[in-house]
Amino acid sequence: MKFRSLLLLGAPGSGKGTQGQVLGQIPGFVHLSSGEFFRSLDPGSDVGKLFRQYSDRGQLVPDDFTIRVWQDHVQTLIASGRYRPSTDFLVLDGIPRNVNQLTQLSASLDILHVFHLSCPNREILIQRLAGRAHQGNRADDADPKVILQRIAIYEAETKPLLGAIPRERLHDIDADQMPYQVLRQILQALP
Ligand code: ADP
Repeated sequence: MKFRSLLLLGAPGSGKGTQGQVLGQIPGFVHLSSGEFFRSLDPGSDVGKLFRQYSDRGQLVPDDFTIRVWQDHVQTLIASGRYRPSTDFLVLDGIPRNVNQLTQLSASLDILHVFHLSCPNREILIQRLAGRAHQGNRADDADPKVILQRIAIYEAETKPLLGAIPRERLHDIDADQMPYQVLRQILQALP
């Protein structure tokens, strides 16, 4: 059985995490953030160290490794009853992040809707990330060079995903709105 999924797609700072967290509070929706999952790994473990090697430079973790740890994580959620594939929607935040990941996951995911949180004004993204850096838990938000690198990788690797999504499943949403306004548009697009 494929996992029924909603995908949040957007540049760093576009609000994927904020929307994912709120949607994840709704019964029947399970928020799955690849970045959050990676950050929860023990920083002293081999997998935790590998993640930091890439994320500290603003680069994507290699696809094969990402897909493997993500699939293990989903299986753990299923085994512990936190995610029930027969009834729940997965709210994917940060994965798939390029066309290769989409291809590798297409056997396990049924992506019903894609919400593109669009913010062409990069200054807004940079300001949001810089603001978040003060909260102190993300080394990759503290360095302006790393922020620019993450935005560049989004443009080069993640944005092309939009071209691989059937038009009727794709919803463009202005990310430069209050979070409740973005949320309203997401919910309105759902049947
Ligand atoms: P943001 O979208 O704000 O940059 P995320 O929390 O989604 O942040 O990701 C943080 C970092 O985690 C990324 O820069 C990357 O190194 C790694 N990462 C997260 N998801 C993936 C993924 N699907 N594939 C490869 N690397 C990922």
